[in-house]
Amino acid sequence: MTQIHNLGFPRIGKKRELKFAIEAYWVGKLTHSELVEKGREIRAQNWQLQAQAGVELLPVGDFAWYDHVLSTSLLLGAVPERHRSQSGEINLDTLFRIGRGKAPTGCACAASEMTKWFNTNYHYIVPELEQDQTFTLAWFELFEHVREAQALGHQVKPVLVGPVTYLHLSKCAKEPFDKLSLLERILPVYQQVLRQLAELGVEWVQIDEPVLALEINDDYREALKTSFNHLSGQGVKLLLATYFDSVSDYLSDVSTYQVDGVHFDCVAGQYDIAQLDEALRPEQVLSLGVINGRNIWRADLQTVYTNIRDVADKRKEQLWLAPSCSLLHTPVDLEQETKLDSELRSWLAFATQKGQELALLKQALIQQDESILEAYCAPVKARLTSSRVNNQAVQQRVASLTARDGQRNNEFVKRIQSQQQSLSLPLLPTTTIGSFPQTKAIRAARRDFKAGNLSFEQYQAQMEAEIRYAVEEQEALDLDVLVHGEAERNDMVEYFGELLEGFAFTQFGWVQSYGSRCVKPPVIWGDVSRHKAMTVAWTKYAQSLTEKKMKGMLTGPVTILFWSFVRDDLDKPSIANQIALALRDEVVDLQNAGIDIIQIDEPAFREGMPLKASQWQNYLDWAAYAFRVSASGVEDKTQIHTHMCYAEFNDIIAAIADMDADVITIETSRSNMELLAAFENFDYPNDIGPGVYDIHSPNVPEVDWIKALIHKAAQKIPVQRLWVNPDCGLKTRAWEETRQALANMVRATKELRKEL
Ligand code: GLN
Ligand code: ZN
Repeated sequence: MTQIHNLGFPRIGKKRELKFAIEAYWVGKLTHSELVEKGREIRAQNWQLQAQAGVELLPVGDFAWYDHVLSTSLLLGAVPERHRSQSGEINLDTLFRIGRGKAPTGCACAASEMTKWFNTNYHYIVPELEQDQTFTLAWFELFEHVREAQALGHQVKPVLVGPVTYLHLSKCAKEPFDKLSLLERILPVYQQVLRQLAELGVEWVQIDEPVLALEINDDYREALKTSFNHLSGQGVKLLLATYFDSVSDYLSDVSTYQVDGVHFDCVAGQYDIAQLDEALRPEQVLSLGVINGRNIWRADLQTVYTNIRDVADKRKEQLWLAPSCSLLHTPVDLEQETKLDSELRSWLAFATQKGQELALLKQALIQQDESILEAYCAPVKARLTSSRVNNQAVQQRVASLTARDGQRNNEFVKRIQSQQQSLSLPLLPTTTIGSFPQTKAIRAARRDFKAGNLSFEQYQAQMEAEIRYAVEEQEALDLDVLVHGEAERNDMVEYFGELLEGFAFTQFGWVQSYGSRCVKPPVIWGDVSRHKAMTVAWTKYAQSLTEKKMKGMLTGPVTILFWSFVRDDLDKPSIANQIALALRDEVVDLQNAGIDIIQIDEPAFREGMPLKASQWQNYLDWAAYAFRVSASGVEDKTQIHTHMCYAEFNDIIAAIADMDADVITIETSRSNMELLAAFENFDYPNDIGPGVYDIHSPNVPEVDWIKALIHKAAQKIPVQRLWVNPDCGLKTRAWEETRQALANMVRATKELRKEL
């Protein structure tokens, strides 16, 4: 009969135990052996949670101290030269050094880069490879973990990042070369790993090749074929795992691979299951990822049952069921959420519950009785029609949106004239991105307020004092456009989610973002609306303290959407438009309260890009439209800013122009203004504030250095359209360095105004 397996489980622990243990180790509060022991406990708990839920074949190798791509680099002995120790030994500190540039022992060399894992919010450490790179089996934790799980009585399936995906994700450390040329050197190590796993009695090994969900060229297709030719016949059965999107375009390739089974992501892939069944030989395992591994909603098992019943009858043992992808992207256990009301809770399923769902589904298949799923699915159905979820007024407002709603009254060239008149700003106006240092006092006040130890009036008074302080500092610095400093905001999405209808917050709904860092995304469960102004009072207060222009500060619809767990019963463009309309009302309210400049941050704009390039345009169109809906309710003279960071702009520059913000501020200092080339080549028409210093480090940039950067920017963009600002918000910095850095920024600008 059908077997239930898992592609991976969250590694952070139910209460982020791994994070706390690792961070304690970093500061010397936990010994190496205590850390190792903690890891062992977490793995044991993870396997137990899954086994109890009913998962039969458990993943091993999904646990990682920092990142599983980094673990793979260690496994293969691919350690950047600067991180190698003299003895050549590879240990846990090697791993932490690569990940974060420091560790309790060894050198403090620059960390390796990290970047987004496909279209998720998880970040992996980019392997750095050289043309003459050699690979050797160098890190043996995988085998230890297999023995550990076996000793606990579990049936296990080790998981490996496939060699082709590994090479795809890596970068050329020095001069560029064809990364696939390393395949023949990497495969022998993989073979060795497989043989050693076979010796441990492992029957199945999962090889993850999510590159198949991208649009890949013939070289990559050939490489995948070669890879499986070499990996087969090493004494274990191979399950090729694909996920995050459909691999239909390569199905004919996949069906010829030397593998014993293939996993398909049936949630993101929207497959015709009969077609998948036909693509594989009868003796191959067809693994269907039928439960969403990226989201937190209770599954509609009845629909899944109907979709897979026939193929289950036909394939029997050769049909496996699993979540769509690794559960790395979901929180661990809904059981811990005691503060959610019971209705909302009945709509959710976290990693542990997803295992239970599969077990229930299997039971229904065995008994050939769909009715045993009814009770479980009742809340799923109730959610769809719930009056709590559905808000007619919001739905009607979205339905009646037109192209006009996504347009300002006039074009930028006209708007900028009225803005210049009413704002009367100098050449190269200086500003900041929004947040000022979130001091201990600010955090303590928020904690006390949430715990009920501070009344709202007390809290408000304290936040106003912080705002006043930030305004005074900015006036003393002589910045041109001020901000209130975001003292009252815990997080740029959570702050708005807490004030909007349709959002919920969990207590322990953490997911790993990178290394020891986790995020707790809000849950968008219903139609989104704004019942009262969210930022007007704080902004008005800030404006009342100064003659200078105060910039209102909002988080944009696309960023709120992508940094949340979003409902699965409504398409993303509609959800984005709902949020956009709520923000539009806020923007208009700010304008009516006398705020002439309003920034709508969209740092996640690029993150929403689909994996397949052929789908980008569609995304960019609706994303830019949603942004414009939020921004277009105002008069010409109101200046709309947006902000993006960590972005590559080349492939989205047309969409950025399409957003039609009057001013965009971006991160550029670390790339030495290189990112501006995209704007230059495109003849980007509106104003731009290229960041002139990196806010990620406490280093104070020198005046001349800033001047040189602005000079460079002025070669690419007409100086009349340039703004001067840091790369991003300053909330993680201390006041001392912030003050000095901004003073230098203002001085550099003033000197340039005279010179230019
Ligand atoms: N306004 C936000 C801030 O300054 C922007 C943060 C971001 O871009 N991630 O903190
Ligand atoms: Zn930013």
